[in-house]
Amino acid sequence: MTKYIFVTGGVTSSLGKGIISASLAKLLQARGYRVTIQKFDPYINIDPGTLNPYEHGECFVTEDGAETDLDLGHYERFLNVPTSQANNITTGRIYQNVINKEREGAYLGKTVQVVPHITDEIKRNMRILGEGGEFDIVITELGGTVGDIESLPFIEAVRQLRWEVGSGNSLVIHLTLVPYLAAAGELKTKPTQHSVKTLLEYGIQPDILVCRTEHHLNADLRKKIALFCNVNINAVIESIDASTIYDVPLLMLKEQLDRTVLTKLKLPHKNEPDMESWKDFLGRLKNPTAEISIGLIGKYVELPDAYKSIIEAFIHAGAKNECKVRVKSIQSEGLLPENAAEKLQGLDGILVAPGFGSRGIEGKIEAIRYVRENNIPFFGICLGMQCAVVEYARNVLGWKDAHTTEIDEQTKHPVISMMEEQKKIKNKGGTMRLGSYACDLKKGSKAAGIYGKSRISERHRHRYEFNNKYLEEFEKAGLVASGINPDNNLVEIIELKNHPFFVGGQFHPELKSTVANPHPLFVNFVAASLAHSRRK
Ligand code: GLN
Repeated sequence: MTKYIFVTGGVTSSLGKGIISASLAKLLQARGYRVTIQKFDPYINIDPGTLNPYEHGECFVTEDGAETDLDLGHYERFLNVPTSQANNITTGRIYQNVINKEREGAYLGKTVQVVPHITDEIKRNMRILGEGGEFDIVITELGGTVGDIESLPFIEAVRQLRWEVGSGNSLVIHLTLVPYLAAAGELKTKPTQHSVKTLLEYGIQPDILVCRTEHHLNADLRKKIALFCNVNINAVIESIDASTIYDVPLLMLKEQLDRTVLTKLKLPHKNEPDMESWKDFLGRLKNPTAEISIGLIGKYVELPDAYKSIIEAFIHAGAKNECKVRVKSIQSEGLLPENAAEKLQGLDGILVAPGFGSRGIEGKIEAIRYVRENNIPFFGICLGMQCAVVEYARNVLGWKDAHTTEIDEQTKHPVISMMEEQKKIKNKGGTMRLGSYACDLKKGSKAAGIYGKSRISERHRHRYEFNNKYLEEFEKAGLVASGINPDNNLVEIIELKNHPFFVGGQFHPELKSTVANPHPLFVNFVAASLAHSRRK
């Protein structure tokens, strides 16, 4: 029977529930258990696809094309197992399902209510991943903080589900904050006591408390928390601030979180977790032999979470190359021909980020011209690849008005344009070209060399495409279309021959980079940038 672990948060948001969930999952996986993690978000958007990155950070896209919370990125990076639509559910989706059923007549005669109809739908979704026999343990992370009005139905669903599966088959981990008051020189446990009390009011006694803290918890403090919150002493787990999120699984191992969990779930401890390759990764990450600076050119650069997967992919690729990658965020707005050299000075490579809309796009194009002409490694992702196509059209083919029709619908040279089937779509949510698509790599191309195979698949999230009407002219002028979708001939990768590294992808390689499998394009881009730094 599948066991259920629920992770709730108390005191404040941003305590890192996603990282704790992913770290626990990693340890259980490393002991041989089949584990998955799902996230339930209390907001009313059907999915985060329509959210501005400033609101909620990056939108993570799964293999099956779901637009999801960025925590799913952590789950995949830690576990190296793909997630899907079922791994991220919002209040909006729960209500949509219930309302659709109501319209179909499924509740005929009944008053449709939060309890039992919404809570039943939440429970149904909480159990979906556990019912296929695919997983031994399903970890469910609840977004928000206990006590929020909007998370109440989720907490009630957890209470009911625990009762349904019976004791020993589920547990609740509550993540709280133990703040340090500098003036008093003390760690304070009261906020934790209060948030546990709030959970108790809803009928849930947490089994394990994970306490975020800046200072170590001594035995007395642990005892105090255990006594007042009614948990075993070994169920008070310290989660001290770490220099990298990738330390957290080992910190949790030291605190024996995995052991405590298995004991409470009445599961055999099996072997000690095999964390050798994880430790090897950390060793490389922490002992770099070189250092490079990469410019990340985008429009949401003020908020690091907006490009979360790109930043993490650089960490994986840096560790692989034993090279520290300093990612310098550069606002594309304000990058002009007269200041490009100055703004891009000292960089060993640039990555032009994905994005939507016109703000900052001319700056991206200008940055690409500069690195193309100066043989500085370039990596373009989605909009970044589209900008590289526009730049080449304007400055090499001489089509000065070339553009993407996303920005200029009237251009005489629409080198990036919308696919026919996209033109009919009016709704914004979930209607882009989303999820995994196959791509064939051209023999002898740089892309084929990097991937070391002829067919790949990568994840997409966009509406516009390379306009194949111009393909021949581009190729004559030296731009190689090295990756093609075998089903519809869309250009997925472009590259230049006589350049140390000039590669653009219509897809998002960053979404598939994990600790166990750093993405080859990132690994090679870092290697090329390292080579460039040595040439300088
Ligand atoms: N705005 C572009 C499109 O829709 C690129 C999207 C992206 O970078 N993810 O095609």
